[in-house]
Amino acid sequence: MLILKQGIYTLSVVSFPEKSDRNESSLKGDQKLDKLIITAAITGSRINRQQTPYIPITPEEITRSSIEAWEAGAAIVHLHMRDPKTGLGTPDISLFRPVVDKLRKQTDLILNLTTSGIPGINLPTEQRLAPMQLKPEMASFDAGSINLGRYVFINTPEFLETAAKLMKELDIKPELEIFDIGMIIHCLRLRDQGLLEEPLHFQFVLGTPQGSPATPKALIHMLDLIPKNSTWSIIGIGKNHLPMSMLGLILGGHVRVGLEDNIYYERGVLAKSNTQLVKRIVRITKEYGREIATPDEAREILGLQR
Ligand code: ZN
Repeated sequence: MLILKQGIYTLSVVSFPEKSDRNESSLKGDQKLDKLIITAAITGSRINRQQTPYIPITPEEITRSSIEAWEAGAAIVHLHMRDPKTGLGTPDISLFRPVVDKLRKQTDLILNLTTSGIPGINLPTEQRLAPMQLKPEMASFDAGSINLGRYVFINTPEFLETAAKLMKELDIKPELEIFDIGMIIHCLRLRDQGLLEEPLHFQFVLGTPQGSPATPKALIHMLDLIPKNSTWSIIGIGKNHLPMSMLGLILGGHVRVGLEDNIYYERGVLAKSNTQLVKRIVRITKEYGREIATPDEAREILGLQR
């Protein structure tokens, strides 16, 4: 238990797990790890064709890349759409709908739609949450504000409360995106208020320019703070991609790969597709002796009802 005091305000009490034994038992190998859930983050909202010619931009390209990632072993796709005029992310539901419809028809993928809008441009809440009308099984939930390079990615307490309420109402599982430790505290507070429900699913985003560093120590500290019955996944941004994936793999977490987070396959060499990144983590996971979760197995692990 921790009591946070700030000036004259005494903030409400947040309860932490007494002691997490999750990491120790994973490392001792006396616990069979869940099958690995691979999320493919297909495009994001900002990578452009000057940075890499391989980034999917149109709805058709995003659909095709998602299907290929699924065929390669991804259980979840995390989706943004791109404005055909600006090339940047857009919450325009008319662009999301055909992609969602096609993926539901042609695959059994778990769809995880973004609610981030465009980090740094900070669209109104209503617009950011518009894709929720398509009732995906999951949606991203960026659990606090942070500087991202020269941008400020704003996620006010009010936005988070509205998003949490809407997701609860529509039975959408929030993927709690954690860029820094304070964001875990915020999620636990929302849980204590009944706005987020256990088991929680965390997505640790490590290695952003001003966020938590991508180090084993940072991850372990985060794991010590989350409730024991949580599931978690990890994103290593840019060059941190592969080391963080490996860490997630051996510690019993899950992994997100994809061009949204990392456009390189190796130093100086662009990844040619999302599939190439999915295939690599599938290969490494199998060599390590951990199995890959199908979408239905991922649903079971995450407590989703299709
Ligand atoms: Zn995203």
